Amino acid sequence: MATLEPVIEGGLCIGCGACLAADPDLELLFDEARQSFRPSGPGRPLAAEVCPAVGVDFSFLHRQRFPGVTPGPHGVVDSVWLAQSTDLARNLRSSSGGLIKELALAHLGSPDGDGIISIVHRGGLDFRAALVTDARDIDNLPGSVYHALRFDDALKILQRRPGNYCLIAIPCQLEGVFSYVYRCAPEIGRRIRMSIGLLCGWQYTHHAIRAICDYKRVDFSRLTNISWRGGGPVGKLKLYTPEGVTTVSRRLDFSYQAAFDRSFNNPRCHLCVNHSNFLADIVVGDAWLPSTVFTRTGISLVICRTSEARLLLQGLAEEGKIRLAKVSVDEIVESQGRRAVFGDFAYAYQAYLARRGLPHPVMTGPNRAAARLVSEKEVDRFHRELLRKLRLQQQGRYRTLWWRKLTWEAPGLLWRYLSWFLVRILRIKSLAGRRKEVARRKLAGFR
Ligand SMILES: Cc1cc2nc3c(=O)[nH]c(=O)nc-3n(C[C@H](O)[C@H](O)[C@H](O)COP(=O)(O)OP(=O)(O)OC[C@H]3O[C@@H](n4cnc5c(N)ncnc54)[C@H](O)[C@@H]3O)c2cc1C
Ligand code: SF4
Ligand code: SF4
Repeated sequence: MATLEPVIEGGLCIGCGACLAADPDLELLFDEARQSFRPSGPGRPLAAEVCPAVGVDFSFLHRQRFPGVTPGPHGVVDSVWLAQSTDLARNLRSSSGGLIKELALAHLGSPDGDGIISIVHRGGLDFRAALVTDARDIDNLPGSVYHALRFDDALKILQRRPGNYCLIAIPCQLEGVFSYVYRCAPEIGRRIRMSIGLLCGWQYTHHAIRAICDYKRVDFSRLTNISWRGGGPVGKLKLYTPEGVTTVSRRLDFSYQAAFDRSFNNPRCHLCVNHSNFLADIVVGDAWLPSTVFTRTGISLVICRTSEARLLLQGLAEEGKIRLAKVSVDEIVESQGRRAVFGDFAYAYQAYLARRGLPHPVMTGPNRAAARLVSEKEVDRFHRELLRKLRLQQQGRYRTLWWRKLTWEAPGLLWRYLSWFLVRILRIKSLAGRRKEVARRKLAGFR
C-alpha cells in the first residue's frame, strides 16, 4: 500500500495540500534541512493516492477535465495567443503581460463569480492561498513567487465555502487539487468555474533565498517580503528588511546565477513533465520569443484549452482591456524549450530513479510520445552533481557553491548567455530559416 514516506525521503512535496484534505490527521510542516514543506507523516493510503509527488494519473484527470477530447503532445489546446493588458500600471505590476489580473477581474465581474482563490502575501516569505472577493485587491496580488510555499488553504476554502470560484495555480498545485477533487469530492470540481494556470519551469527551496542573502549580506531572519518580478519583462529580485530594500538583477548579477542554480530547485521540479499546465482551462506564461524581445513591459503567452477560455480572452480584447495576437502552437516550444514542454530530461530522470529504487513521482503525460529522452550518462552526471550540491546546501556552505559556479561551472554559464544572445537578440535561427517568427505587424500596438 503506497504511503507518503517516499515523498518525505525524497523531499518531493510541493505543498499542494491534497493529502491534508484526504487525511485530516496530517499536517504540513516546514523541513528545516531541505528548506521546503513536507507532510507530518506517511498518512493513510488515500493521502498517497491523491498526492502528486507520489504520482499523477493524467489520463484519468484529462477525462474529468476535458471529457470527450483527446489530448495531443501539448495537452488539450484550443488556441495559442500573445497578449498584454492595456493598463500600463497593471502590466508593470505583473510578471509578464498582466493577463492573470485581467482574467481574475473578468471572473469577479461575472454574475456567478464568487471569488478568486490565489496566493496572497502574509509576511516574510509566507505566501498562501486565500479567497479574494474585492476587485480592488486584484492589483495587490503578488507577481510570480518562485520559492516553496503552502497551497493547502485552497482546498480548505473550496471545502468550507459554497460558491463558484476561479483558481489561480501552478501545474503541480492543480494536479493535487484535481486529484483530490475528482476522487473524493467531485461537487467541488463543478464549483471551480475557471482554473487559470501558470506555466512553470521550476520552484526554489528557501536555501536559494538563504544563499542570495548570504552573498548580498542581507539578514535572512529579518526578511519582511520578497518580490521576484515586476517593472518590466524580466524584473529584479527585491529583498525587503526593516533596514531597506536590496535589489538584484535577475539576468546580469553573478550571485543571482549562483543562488538560483537548478540544484536549489525543489527535487520534484527535475522530474516534472507538466510545465505547460495540462489541467488548467487557460495557461499564462512569459513570451520568450525573438519577436517579443522588444517589449518594455512584458508580454504573455496564453494557451486556451477550451473554447470558453478563448471566448473570454477575445471578449477582453473587444472591450479594449487587452491586446491580443493569435500565434501557432509551435510558439510554446519556441518560448519554453522542448525539454520543458515534452519532458526530454524529466522522463529519463524518472526512469533512472525507478531503476535504482529511489523515490520519484510516477507520471506519464500526453507529451510522453513526443519526448526524446536524454542519455543515461547525462542523467547520471546530473544526479551525482545534484546530491553533492544538496549536501553543501544542507551544510549551509553557500559560498562553496558560489566558487564552484565561478570556476568549474563558468563555461556552461557563458554558453547559456551566448546562446540566449544568438537566438533571442541576433535571431540566428530565424535568419537561417530554421524557424518562422511571429510577424512584427501582428504585434503592432504592443508595448
Ligand atoms: C514558480 C513559477 C515558475 C514559473 N516558471 C515559468 C517558466 O518557466 N516559463 C514561463 O513562461 N512562465 C513561468 N512562470 C509564469 C510567469 O512567471 C508569470 O507568472 C505568468 O506569465 C503570468 O504573468 P501575469 O503578468 O499574467 O500574471 P501576474 O499578474 O504576475 O499574476 C501572477 C498570479 O499568479 C499567482 N502566483 C504567483 N506565484 C504563484 C505560485 N508560486 N503559486 C501559485 N500562484 C502563484 C499570483 O497570486 C497572481 O495571482 C512561472 C511562475 C511561477 C510562479
Ligand atoms: S505534494 Fe501535496 S499531497 Fe503530496 S505530501 Fe505534499 S502537500 Fe501532501
Ligand atoms: S516545475 Fe513542476 S513540480 Fe516544479 S513547481 Fe513547477 S509545476 Fe511544480
